[in-house]
Amino acid sequence: MIPLASVMKEKIAFYSLTLSDLESVLEGLGHKKFRARQLFQWVYLHKETNPENMLNLSKLFREEIPSLFHFELPEIILHKKSKDGTQKFLFRVGEKLSVETVLIPSGERNTLCVSSEVGCNMACNFCYTGTQKLKRRLTADEIVGQFLRVSHLLPENVKISNIVYMGMGEPLDNTDAVLKSIDILHAPLGINLSLKKITVSTSGIVSKIPLLTQSGVRLAVSLNASEDETRNKIMPINLKWNIKTLLEACRQHAIGTKDKVTLEYVLLKGINDSLEDARRVYEITKNVPSKINIIPFNEHPGAPYKKPLEKVVDAFQNELIYLGAQTLRRRTMGDDILAACGQLNSEATL
Ligand code: SAH
Ligand code: SF4
Repeated sequence: MIPLASVMKEKIAFYSLTLSDLESVLEGLGHKKFRARQLFQWVYLHKETNPENMLNLSKLFREEIPSLFHFELPEIILHKKSKDGTQKFLFRVGEKLSVETVLIPSGERNTLCVSSEVGCNMACNFCYTGTQKLKRRLTADEIVGQFLRVSHLLPENVKISNIVYMGMGEPLDNTDAVLKSIDILHAPLGINLSLKKITVSTSGIVSKIPLLTQSGVRLAVSLNASEDETRNKIMPINLKWNIKTLLEACRQHAIGTKDKVTLEYVLLKGINDSLEDARRVYEITKNVPSKINIIPFNEHPGAPYKKPLEKVVDAFQNELIYLGAQTLRRRTMGDDILAACGQLNSEATL
């Protein structure tokens, strides 16, 4: 019999495999399907990657595992803590590249904001990540790896409760890896994160939104303007899919998942922050089951915009509330370490 290891040319990144991928790999190598479930549980549920300790597996299979898979995680090359408790991690991915991940504690909740790409090609002109061109899309194991590495650093009694795909990159420009990572993080035999605790934020790649609807995760969309003229100027994606098309996709997602969509609205001084904007936002979103997440612009080096005064932010939010919209105000977390929304740029951090 040919030893299995010699059949496989390269070791597979274990963290890139969903349970069903793992079943296929092992079945393809002549193993019983339940072996995949056992191995998956060891790794994700019991956090055990040393096959010698996986005692319910046959000795032969235990010996074979190291030749089939590797369990490498991206390395943390920088770790900063903000005075508000936010932590920022710089991860090395591949030889020369890096991405940022942010952990945001809030009461019982610990939200991890993961990156999906190194840089971003969507060119939104208010975003620091957008100034760094796309270098590479992350693989599923690099996304799952951000979660696992940070989890391992936390004390035993502290768990990551929520995950948001709001770090560097456009998740819907990397749907294969993003959907695989969601499948892995959600798998009930493993990490078992509820789909309602997973949010994917997009700048508005409308053609891909149905994939998120099918997966059942929560959707956040960067609306950021009340009419197309302004949105065309600040988010070039709007030239392809305008506000009306985007909001219709949001409505379909809300219907499909029976869940409200989060509409992110970054307030840029003098650009999209007037009371008229607030009224238009209400009008265009009133038929979309949604909540509006108001994000005062976070300033960053070279930014062409300013943050509106606090009273302007208040007035904008109050107008929406008065009209009947559901709003929330995103607290600026971690801005002393450039870990707030739109401040991530791994080139500048290095
Ligand atoms: N690419 C995705 C997810 C990453 S950006 C998207 O665009 O949705 C995450 C959020 O940060 C988006 O809502 C974006 O509008 C917001 N953002 C970008 N730059 C910002 C800045 N400088 N200040 C505040 N929010 C910003
Ligand atoms: Fe990319 Fe999102 Fe930044 Fe736009 S806002 S450049 S899509 S990361």
